[in-house]
Amino acid sequence: MQFTVALDGPAAAGKGTISKALARHFGFAHLDTGLLYRAVGAKGGDPVTAARGLTQADLAREDLRSLEAGAAASRVATIPEVRQALVRFQRDFARRDGGAVLDGRDIGTVICPNAEVKIFVTASPEIRAHRRWLEVGGEEADVLVQVRERDARDMNRADAPLKPAFDAVMLDTTAMSIDDATRIAISLVEAGLRP
Ligand code: C5P
Repeated sequence: MQFTVALDGPAAAGKGTISKALARHFGFAHLDTGLLYRAVGAKGGDPVTAARGLTQADLAREDLRSLEAGAAASRVATIPEVRQALVRFQRDFARRDGGAVLDGRDIGTVICPNAEVKIFVTASPEIRAHRRWLEVGGEEADVLVQVRERDARDMNRADAPLKPAFDAVMLDTTAMSIDDATRIAISLVEAGLRP
């Protein structure tokens, strides 16, 4: 069975937690596509060469979750040749047998415009910064600045900007627990699986 769930949205909206829970619940494979861009940014050197030669070892680096790696990722993610180099891998993953959940920024719009289920997860910048700050510490105000910078870069780039697909279901998690958001996402996928 081929079945793709596309989960897009800005940083720290809850995509990662929700997509992992969906994958577990339905037995689907999960790809965190942000990790691909983080690995390209962290590799250094020419980003296009890095994207074309990405290996499993690059994706397993321990330092990919940091705020710096996120900022570097959003910079290399503006380069069309970097994005192009990562398309095939993501599309093959999406159509693997047994179902797949991909989370990112452009899954429903560019990578998998025919995904069976598309969800756009969002939340206010303040609440997203607060959630990220709980994970990384430091000054909460600085985290908010970084969240806003990353939003601006992701939404305003020319190639595959962050935006909901016209047929995505919006899931605003600002005033919602992650468990409630996950329950809603599960019911959306159940509806998509129904014949
Ligand atoms: O989701 P995550 O925070 O790990 O993504 C890091 C950065 O990678 C994002 O800010 C975005 O610039 C880029 N990205 C992207 N397209 C995706 C996933 C991530 O441009 N599908």
